[in-house]
Amino acid sequence: MNTTDFRQYAHQLADWMADYMENIESYPVMSQLSPGETSTRLPPQAPLQAEPFQDLMRDFADIIMPGITHWQHPSFFAYFPANSSPPSILAEMLTATLAVQGMVWQTSPAATELEEVVIKWLVQMLGLPSDFTGLIQDSASSATLCSLLSARERASHLAVNNSGFTPKERYSCYCSEEAHSSVEKAVKISGIGKINLRRISVDKSMAMEPHVLKKVIASDRQLGYQPLWAVATLGTTGSTAIDPLVEIADICRTEGLWLHVDAALAGTALILPEMRWMAKGIEGIDSFVFNPHKWMFTNFDCSIYLVRDPASLVQTFEITPEYLKTAVDNRVNNYRDWGIQLGRRFRALKLWFVIRSYGIEGLQKIIRSHIALAARLAREIDNHPDFSLLAPVPLNTVCFRYQPMNVADENRIDSLNQTLLETLNKSGKIYITHTRLQGKYTLRLVVGQTQVEWRHVSAAWELIKKTAKEIFSVKT
Ligand code: PLP
Repeated sequence: MNTTDFRQYAHQLADWMADYMENIESYPVMSQLSPGETSTRLPPQAPLQAEPFQDLMRDFADIIMPGITHWQHPSFFAYFPANSSPPSILAEMLTATLAVQGMVWQTSPAATELEEVVIKWLVQMLGLPSDFTGLIQDSASSATLCSLLSARERASHLAVNNSGFTPKERYSCYCSEEAHSSVEKAVKISGIGKINLRRISVDKSMAMEPHVLKKVIASDRQLGYQPLWAVATLGTTGSTAIDPLVEIADICRTEGLWLHVDAALAGTALILPEMRWMAKGIEGIDSFVFNPHKWMFTNFDCSIYLVRDPASLVQTFEITPEYLKTAVDNRVNNYRDWGIQLGRRFRALKLWFVIRSYGIEGLQKIIRSHIALAARLAREIDNHPDFSLLAPVPLNTVCFRYQPMNVADENRIDSLNQTLLETLNKSGKIYITHTRLQGKYTLRLVVGQTQVEWRHVSAAWELIKKTAKEIFSVKT
């Protein structure tokens, strides 16, 4: 493809992209395909000869698009938002065109320095302690792993990095029963072993019980463990529960544990001064992660990892082969030494475009509206005799279930809700997902799409009520 062709196709694609955004509500939210339906329509071998672009676009429309679940659909209420926005998409086009590999400062000074600047902006925007600094990672999972590896190296004085584990390092780690699976993954990958991860019980609001944390740490010490690392979650994946940071930070400080905060979803809400109560105690933590690629209108991937002590990161990850040495190494940040990846995408550009295009006030307005929409729906659910809320709604996630008044059998209620979920998603009109809270099959409706309005949430609620009634009448 030469640049003349490229120019023509790029214009076509720009039109396709704008049409997609304008018509997104005409697509079924969740792809309606069965397993294998996409792959069986694709040739098993790569083409020997070049194919024309028109053929690629034809197959994209015919084969790929039906297998797409539309995360940007305003009636996408599943999992968590992974919302995007026009400025973010435009920046991604530039990023793809420049195709920068930002492994060291010299490989694109602007990539490193813009990253430093947006990190500083975000620290201020979220009201975080001004001594926090950090970088953009691909995902919260990677950031959480980096946090644990740094804690391990701080505690072992780099001995594990240098010589591997010895019987001396009997580390134990802590998180709540509701913490994200990436915590367990980090403990597995770090060599600490998942049997050494203690899942601390939660209270009725699904938040960690600090007095239990304290007890478990004490009992581990008696058994000869070295309590190493704890994770507090602001906004758990299941129900957006908020772990009590002040108490947890206090325990971790007294006990000498590294405290990591996973605010993958909820971090964005800290741009609202009225939501900063969640982060009370944040001065006492060691590291923090949040994902603009979830709820801050920035295309996947873009995860912000902040630390109080960048030296602990650099000591853990630094590695300098001859070919990467430059004359300015002692004057710049070489982000390759701040994490696992050597090669790094230029992710700061889309964040910069988003923040400048919306302004802090523009971002606050939308996040505030999402929280208000979730609260409004929660009130409606709470007031309905056949539905109940299963968790508090501090943010944008409503956890609830259908429970017709004359049904008391828990298995039957679970089964009704499972059927309800499947029927709703098959309709293509909305997409919601589930979890289990205190053993109960729980429906989750998450408000967070860039274009979502009350009309979408209210249409979802009407559909849920109507479908539930139909299912119940058939199943009785
Ligand atoms: N932490 C929490 C609380 C999450 O909700 C999620 C994603 O669902 C993650 C971590 C993992 O995020 P990522 O996909 O960026 O690794």
